[in-house]
Amino acid sequence: MLQQTQVKTVVPYWSRWMRELPSIARLAQAGEDRLHKLWEGLGYYSRVRNLQKAARMIMTVHNGQFPETFDDVLALPGIGRYTAGAICSIAFNQPTPILDGNVIRVLCRLQAILGDPKSPRLNDRLWATAARLVLGASRLERADIPPAASSIQPGFCSRLNQSLMELGATVCTPRNPACDLCPVSRWCAAFKRGNPLAYPSARKRPASLPRWFAALVIERAGQFRVRQRPGHGVNAGLWEFPNVECPDLASTDLSAATLLGMTPIPVHPLAVIRHSITRYRMTLAAFHASVPPGFQPSEKAGAWLDLPALHELAFTAAHKKILLALESKRTKTHRKSSSLG
Ligand code: SF4
Repeated sequence: MLQQTQVKTVVPYWSRWMRELPSIARLAQAGEDRLHKLWEGLGYYSRVRNLQKAARMIMTVHNGQFPETFDDVLALPGIGRYTAGAICSIAFNQPTPILDGNVIRVLCRLQAILGDPKSPRLNDRLWATAARLVLGASRLERADIPPAASSIQPGFCSRLNQSLMELGATVCTPRNPACDLCPVSRWCAAFKRGNPLAYPSARKRPASLPRWFAALVIERAGQFRVRQRPGHGVNAGLWEFPNVECPDLASTDLSAATLLGMTPIPVHPLAVIRHSITRYRMTLAAFHASVPPGFQPSEKAGAWLDLPALHELAFTAAHKKILLALESKRTKTHRKSSSLG
C-alpha cells in the first residue's frame, strides 16, 4: 500500500483492510470485486491481485503460516528481491540486504559513487555493499535478547535496514539533505567533498507523451452505462464509463458522440481529468448524455446501474473522478431547482 503513496493516505486504507480481511485465510478467500474496492484509489492494482495469489500460496503450500526463509518468501507472487530482503531482515532479523531508492541514495552519497544506479554493474555493486553492511550488523552482539532464549536471530539486521531506509527518507533526502544532523556524516564521502546533491547521478527520463480520451456518461431512466475492463493489462478488472481515444482535445466531443452510435443526442461537457500513467500524460474529457428509455448501446458488454450501485464498484482513479463530477453536478442542479421551486 505504501508504494508511491504517503503514510497519511494509506492509514484509512490499512484500517479498512484489516477490519475486513484480518487474516491470510480471509484474504485468500475474498472475491476480486471486494479486493478491488478495498484498493480503489491506491493504483497499481496488480499488487492487490498478487497479494491474494500470495495468500493462496501460503494457505496451500505453507499450511497458512507465513514462510521464514528468503527463498520461500521470494517465491511468493508479487515479492521481489527488495521486498523479500525487507521482510526477512525486518521481521526475522536475517542478514538479507535491501536496496530501494532511499538506500541507493544513501549508499551513493556515503561512497561518492557516480553513474546510473540502475545500470547492471553499479546496481550489483550497490547490492553487494548493502549485503556487506547487513552481514556486519548480524555479527554485532546485542545484549537485549539472549540468542538462546529467543527464536529471533542475534545481531542488528532489522535495525540496520530500517535505519538505512529511514535515513534516506528523513535526513538524506533527494534535494535537501540535512548533513548537519546526520549521524553518519563523519563517514560520508559526499559530505566531505561538499557536494551531496551530485550523488547519485541524475537519470535521463524519457520524454512524456500526451494522449487524449473521451468518456461518455450515458444516462437512461436514472441508470448509467458502465463496463468492466479486461482481466489483464492496465487497470485490469476495474470499472469505467464507455470511452475512446481521440487524436486531440478538440475532437473529444465528437468522439464522445460516436459512443452513442447513430443516435443523434447532444452530449454536454462534464469534467476534464488529467493524470499520468507511466510516460503518458492523459487528458480525459468526460461528457454526459441523456438517452430515451428504449436506447440500446452498440457495445453489448456492460451494465446499466443506478448511482448507489455504481458506488459499490471499484473504478479506475480517473473514472472515479468522473463519477464524483457527475454527483456534484446533480447536487448543484438539485439545489438550483429546489431554490427556484
Ligand atoms: Fe546524506 Fe549528508 Fe548524511 Fe552524507 S552526511 S549520508 S549526504 S545526509
